[in-house]
Amino acid sequence: MSHIVILGGGYGGLTLVNELLEENLPSEVRIFLVDRMPFQGLKTEYYALAAGTSSDLDIRVTYPSHTQLEIVYGEITGFSEETKTVAFANRDPLPYDTLVLALGCTDNYHGIPGADEYSCSIQTLSATRRTYQMLNDARPYGQVSIIGGGLSGVEVAAELRESRPDLNIRIIDRGPSVLSGFPGKLQHFVASWFLEHQVEMLSHITTNSLGQGVIHTTDADILSDVTVWTAGIQPVEIIQRLTYAKDKQGRLVVNEFHELPEAPNVFVIGDCSSQPYSPSAQLAQAQGKQVAHVIRARLHGKEPRLPRIRLRGTLGSLGKKSGFGIMGSTPIMGRVPRILKSGVLWKSRRHFG
Ligand SMILES: Cc1cc2nc3c(=O)[nH]c(=O)nc-3n(C[C@H](O)[C@H](O)[C@H](O)COP(=O)(O)OP(=O)(O)OC[C@H]3O[C@@H](n4cnc5c(N)ncnc54)[C@H](O)[C@@H]3O)c2cc1C
Repeated sequence: MSHIVILGGGYGGLTLVNELLEENLPSEVRIFLVDRMPFQGLKTEYYALAAGTSSDLDIRVTYPSHTQLEIVYGEITGFSEETKTVAFANRDPLPYDTLVLALGCTDNYHGIPGADEYSCSIQTLSATRRTYQMLNDARPYGQVSIIGGGLSGVEVAAELRESRPDLNIRIIDRGPSVLSGFPGKLQHFVASWFLEHQVEMLSHITTNSLGQGVIHTTDADILSDVTVWTAGIQPVEIIQRLTYAKDKQGRLVVNEFHELPEAPNVFVIGDCSSQPYSPSAQLAQAQGKQVAHVIRARLHGKEPRLPRIRLRGTLGSLGKKSGFGIMGSTPIMGRVPRILKSGVLWKSRRHFG
C-alpha cells in the first residue's frame, strides 16, 4: 500500500488531488488530503469576502469524493522525515510514503512592532472572516487604512469602496505608487480609478509601528479605525521552522521535479516553493499538475519529463465592473480584464467543484 499525503487542500493541493484521481491510479495507492477546513476557501477571492461583496458560501469549493481518497481534517503542526509521519495538534500522527507540502503563506510583518496585533489579515479564511467583521462594523464615515499597495491591497481597497461608500479609505505604501511592480500605464489607470472613487493614496511612507487606532510612520502618526495588512507574505510557520535550503523569501528550494533535494519523495508546491515567479494560484495549480505527472510516472516505473511552466498573465479587479492585468507583456485595463477575471474564477470553481 502506498500512502500519498498532501498537506493543504488549497489551489496547489486540490489541483494535485484532482489530477491524480483523473486517470490511471494503481489500486494499491491511497491519497490523504489534509486540511484544517472541510472545503477549499478560494484565496484569490478573500478580498471580496473581507469587503463584504462575496459571501462565505460563494468562495467555498467542495472536496472530491473517491474510494482511494481520504480527507483528513486537522491542524498540522509538522512532519518528521525520520519517522515519515505528519504531526497534528488534535489527532494521531499520519504515516506517509510520499509527502506534498502545499500549505500556502501567511503575513510577513517584517518585524514591525504591533503589526500583527493591530492590523487585520486576509491570509486565512478565519482571519478574513474577522477582517470582514471589523471592516463592516467600522463606524459610519470611519477611517480604514490598507498598508501595502500591491495586488491584494488594491483589490481590497476597491472592493471596500463598492461595499462601503461612506468610509474614508486610504492605501499606504512605502514605494512611489500603488502596484509599483506593474507597468506605468497600469499604475496610472489604477491611480485614476482611486482618485475618481475617493480612495486616498499615500506613497513613500514607511511604517515604523502600529498601536491601537494609530499607525506610526517616519513622517507622522496616522489615525486609523481599522487597518488591513497587505504589505508582504511568507510561507506558513511550519515551513519557516524547517531547516532545508530556502530562498530570500523563505520559500523552500526544490529540484526540477518540485522535490526537496535533501528529502526525496517530499514535494513542495504553491506559495511554499521557490520558483522564478511571484507566488500565485496559477503557479500553484501548474505545479500541482506537474507533481501529479511525476508521481504517476514513478508509480508506473517511468521517468518523468516536465516542460517549463508557462503562466498566462496577471489579472486584478477594481470592484465588480473594472479591472486591470497583463497578458504576455501587454497591459489591459477596464471592463475586459474584469470579465476575464470572473471567467478564471468560474473556471477554477467548475474544475474543482
Ligand atoms: C486577496 C488575494 C488575491 C489574490 N489574487 C490572485 C489572483 O488574482 N491570481 C492568482 O493567481 N493568485 C492570486 N492570489 C494568490 C493566491 O491566492 C495564492 O498564491 C494561492 O492560493 C497559493 O496556493 P497554495 O496551494 O500554495 O495555498 P492555498 O491556496 O493558500 O492553500 C493552502 C491550504 O493549506 C491549509 N493549511 C495551511 N496551514 C495549515 C495547517 N497548519 N493545518 C491544516 N491546514 C493548513 C489552508 O487551510 C489552505 O486550504 C491572491 C491572494 C490574495 C490573498
